[in-house]
Amino acid sequence: MANMIKIEVVTPEKRVVDDQASEVTIPGATGYLGILPGHAPLITEISVGEIAYKDSQGARQLLAVAWGFAEVLPDKVTVLAETAEKATDIDLERAQQARQRAEESIKSAATGTDTSDATNALKRAESRIKVAKDEGK
Ligand code: ATP
Repeated sequence: MANMIKIEVVTPEKRVVDDQASEVTIPGATGYLGILPGHAPLITEISVGEIAYKDSQGARQLLAVAWGFAEVLPDKVTVLAETAEKATDIDLERAQQARQRAEESIKSAATGTDTSDATNALKRAESRIKVAKDEGK
């Protein structure tokens, strides 16, 4: 299709997205990256955040994603992620509970304790909540 780019999002568990998009935004390691059809090839790390794309009907699609890599080619974006969930597959209550657990764990951590696991869990939960509520990028 002219002026469309193929988007595939794959996790170790399943192919989450196999679609065509007119524009795609991904959470690269150094910030959000906007991709249009014909984009120059690149490979980037993916951090925790939201993938957004406009599908062939012009509808905005959102996903929560955590860690991995994206390969961008002029006609295809491939994201290999540890976890990725479409808005409709997110259990909002579970994400809210995960956010609360992570916040409590960060708050109660003794000074000097490594809180990176809880911080990352908090980022994942916040991204899932954003996507479930359709507030992502
Ligand atoms: P939790 O503490 O609720 O398990 P987590 O951030 O530790 O959250 P992950 O390790 O990132 O969970 O993901 C484990 C699996 O559960 C993945 O397959 C992920 O897609 C799925 N998952 C995690 N949270 C949710 C959610 N709120 N809704 C739907 N699927 C989820």
